[in-house]
Amino acid sequence: MPPRQQRRGEGQWALGYREPLNKNEENKKNDDGLNVRDRIVDIYSKAGFDSIDPADLRGRFRWYGLYTQRRPGIDGGKTAILEDEDLDDRYFMMRVRIDGGQLSPEQLRAIADVSTKYARGTADLTDRQNIQLHWVEIESVPAIWETLESVGLSTTEACGDTPRVILGCPLAGIDADEVIDATPQIHEINERYIGSPEFSNLPRKFKSALSGCTAQCTVHEINDIAFVGVVNDDGEKGYDIWVGGGLSTNPMFGKRLGAFVRPDQVHEVWAGVAGIFRDYGYRRLRHRARIKFLMNDWGPERFRELLEKDYLGYALPDGPAPGAPAGARRDHVGIRPQRDGNYYVGFAPKVGRINGELLHVIADLAQEYGSGRVRTTTEQKMVILDVPEERTEALAADLEANDLQVRPSTFRRQTMACTGIEFCKLAIVETKQRGMDLISELEERLPDFEEPLTININGCPNSCARIQVADIGLKGQLVTDADGNQVEGYQIHLGGSIGGAFGKKVRGLKTTADELPDYVERVLRRFQKQKTDGESFAD
Ligand code: SF4
Repeated sequence: MPPRQQRRGEGQWALGYREPLNKNEENKKNDDGLNVRDRIVDIYSKAGFDSIDPADLRGRFRWYGLYTQRRPGIDGGKTAILEDEDLDDRYFMMRVRIDGGQLSPEQLRAIADVSTKYARGTADLTDRQNIQLHWVEIESVPAIWETLESVGLSTTEACGDTPRVILGCPLAGIDADEVIDATPQIHEINERYIGSPEFSNLPRKFKSALSGCTAQCTVHEINDIAFVGVVNDDGEKGYDIWVGGGLSTNPMFGKRLGAFVRPDQVHEVWAGVAGIFRDYGYRRLRHRARIKFLMNDWGPERFRELLEKDYLGYALPDGPAPGAPAGARRDHVGIRPQRDGNYYVGFAPKVGRINGELLHVIADLAQEYGSGRVRTTTEQKMVILDVPEERTEALAADLEANDLQVRPSTFRRQTMACTGIEFCKLAIVETKQRGMDLISELEERLPDFEEPLTININGCPNSCARIQVADIGLKGQLVTDADGNQVEGYQIHLGGSIGGAFGKKVRGLKTTADELPDYVERVLRRFQKQKTDGESFAD
């Protein structure tokens, strides 16, 4: 670590820096984020929005998946200028965590009910398998929790400096080719540690992924901690552990510790890594508070040594690295066999946007054609499980009648968009509608384009929609149009891929939002013209 930083300290608890070095740390020290639940139920939901303590409103509410929405009508040019209170609407975004993306019919219907009753019908699938609702009023929150919790769902630690939703393959336990079913380990971590004060004050968010999926759909390379299914030399199934991945404004891929973790050890290894992050993570500056910075400074050897010596109390054996992902698209769209002889049907709404009514339709179809089990994916898509082969085409037709495509174009299948200016206070530009419009335009202009191609659209320099690992990454910002006006547009990143390279920011390469379809069409036509046999866009 550079000497200047050592002198000032990074706010690492384990080195004795317990005094808060910024406002967020101070808020967390003043009161655990988990304690806000009682105040929401007993006071704020009864006394109304104006009764909410600002430190709860803009801080601790996140521990229960609640953010104030952006006040409508404030343009992106004001995002960086205005104070939080000027950007705040009186409504909330609520994130429902769906660990492993696994939903029973009752759970899906509960979310659909909450959406239609309390969230003006909104429901967005996120790229971390959550469902986000909007327009939620503080008065409704206790009733929403009651509905969700009655079916085993929760918003606890869906946001905030906490262990967020745990990613899992939507086909866990049913995929014919999976290395290992990570569902029991996801449940165990959830039951032991989510909502526990042991990990409710981390330096920042902590994103986990556990999967034995051969497509590696949980994108282990960009999670704070990831367990990837492998088989060791003795034929034993377990996990390879990766730590320190993350995108945002300083993207880094996670690093392998090189250790083999048995399934029964997963929860304590997870707790050990989360504990290192809690104790040694940098708390002085928010933008350096993710575990990736610690890993970057320490390296995987030192990290593993501390984990084994001080947190586990035993050494982990070395283990194999996972192979390359199977298939060019790391997703589960389409009709494919399960190992029990049934089929799963993965389908694509546009950029994850659905609504409460559609969720009810999906729940009906899942029960009519399958067992009712539904999964959310890490690409803003959904999967219906347990469909007999002879009924898959009828289900596909019913889904498509609701514009939920089972055989979508490349553009619909692989375009993702973050929340953007419609609801997000950090946004500079619109994303969801532009993403939907872009898909429609490209489908019309390039109907024969079938190569894998990811287009990810962000509304600001953060990377909620993973722009740095997209073939075409679009970072929202204001740009100057031909008439010299400041308008919504995007900085272009080209050639990114998960685990490969981060997309290159081509200097000065920006497009206005209006010209976006023309720009993407030009790039893709040039690719089609110049590509050699078998060459992908990523190549
Ligand atoms: Fe908001 Fe920016 Fe994240 Fe989009 S990338 S959801 S605009 S913070």
